[in-house]
Amino acid sequence: MSTIFSKIIRGEVPADIVYQDDRVTCFRDINPAAPVHLLIVPNKEIATVNDLGEQDERLAGHMLLVAKELAEREGIAQSGYRLIINCNRDGGQEVHHLHVHLLGGHRMGPMVLRR
Ligand code: 5GP
Repeated sequence: MSTIFSKIIRGEVPADIVYQDDRVTCFRDINPAAPVHLLIVPNKEIATVNDLGEQDERLAGHMLLVAKELAEREGIAQSGYRLIINCNRDGGQEVHHLHVHLLGGHRMGPMVLRR
């Protein structure tokens, strides 16, 4: 099974790709929740954070460093931004291909809804 993100990574589905290297692909979210909303996705299909292994330690760190670099490029590093990784049902994960959301460009508000 290939995820929609794998199809984007392989160029089979169009997306606004802002960065790509041999380990990650980054593109604009199709339904942005903030003025800047990018997704940092490993080229390797890893379903969730739960599926990260020891062998992925450098990849996981790379995702964070790329997110930092993209925040700089998008001009939101100083104003600030939020990085989110959703996991499974309670985390609200819709696409089961690991990704970091990079959100910014305005005040992000409370971290989570309190109820
Ligand atoms: P999740 O809820 O899994 O953490 O986030 C999935 C994100 O992927 C959502 O914000 C959704 O808008 C985005 N998304 C889903 N399908 C596509 C697509 O085909 N293209 C792009 N660019 N984003 C997508």
